[in-house]
Amino acid sequence: MQQIQAFKDFMSQPRSVVILTHFKPDADALGSSLGLMGYLRKKGHRAQVITPSDYPDFISWMPGNSEVLIFQKEKPKPSQEFIERAEIIFCLDFSSLNRINELGEMVRKSAAKKVLVDHHLEPENFADFIQWDDTAASTAELVFQLIDELGDKKLIDESIANCLYAGIMTDTGGFRHSNTTHKVFQIAGELVSHGANPSQVSKLIYDTNTLERLRLMGFVLSEKLQVLPEYRTAYMVLSAEELKKFGSQTGDTEGLVNYGLSIKGVKLSVMISDRKDSVKLSFRSLGDFSVNDLARKHFDGGGHRNAAGGQTNLNLEETLQKFLKLLPEYKDLLLA
Ligand code: 5GP
Ligand code: MN
Repeated sequence: MQQIQAFKDFMSQPRSVVILTHFKPDADALGSSLGLMGYLRKKGHRAQVITPSDYPDFISWMPGNSEVLIFQKEKPKPSQEFIERAEIIFCLDFSSLNRINELGEMVRKSAAKKVLVDHHLEPENFADFIQWDDTAASTAELVFQLIDELGDKKLIDESIANCLYAGIMTDTGGFRHSNTTHKVFQIAGELVSHGANPSQVSKLIYDTNTLERLRLMGFVLSEKLQVLPEYRTAYMVLSAEELKKFGSQTGDTEGLVNYGLSIKGVKLSVMISDRKDSVKLSFRSLGDFSVNDLARKHFDGGGHRNAAGGQTNLNLEETLQKFLKLLPEYKDLLLA
């Protein structure tokens, strides 16, 4: 961390801490937050995790989950009070305050110190302390490194280790993506030596499907997945009715976009789905093709080079047409 000494000084007395994740937190956002919460409490701080929205069941096993406060638009008071009272606010796994919707304004207004712990591209400049590295595969790694830098690795217990391990495992796609570095294995190995249980975490996250989710997956793969070989592109579009028909819950579509990319020759995959307030796009790519650029430039989003997301206020069909019309512009890059 830049400013590590100032950070240490500030944290040398018990503090009121708020830890925030991005909207619809994934295993990295929630795992790094609960891991950090566990650590900070051991150091004598009061720490509260707040998420801007609900999140999937398959990450709710994480130790500390029952104490998470989920922000509610209709009932903002509890979150507001925590943020107002906080002396320091950690922002985990997101790099710009507009990714936490209503909470962003509260954070901006708050007099608390702000800490950014994140690995997304092009971070916004709002934090007093920064633990940022876009070469890190996960935010969980950065939390581990921060604890290490503070000389507190010995405080990592089984609960903290499992939370952080879950973040690393999922953000590397189960140690398969191109972000799976030597350092990833090193930190994952250390977490195992502190009590993380790889097969248990993997089972809890990947093998706790509902039958409805598998049926949705089958439907998407057989009826919805389209391939445009001339652009090395795969896409799938899911309407609100289709999601409803399969009783889709938060997180049920997570990872589906990867199936597009698993097709031989495909370099760009997108899933477009109808959500409550907008149409959401989820992008994956291989190699040099940057979906961060694509999402940032055309879909009010961002992320990483090979995994990004965005949204539009168009309808589903218009969003698909907008995406398809962009492909000729990117043809050279896609075929390179
Ligand atoms: P996913 O497709 O799994 O929702 O997201 C892929 C990556 O892009 C994640 O790292 C996620 O944090 C990021 N991401 C998803 N949606 C958005 C968005 O709307 N804006 C930005 N800046 N990043 C996003
Ligand atoms: Mn992450």
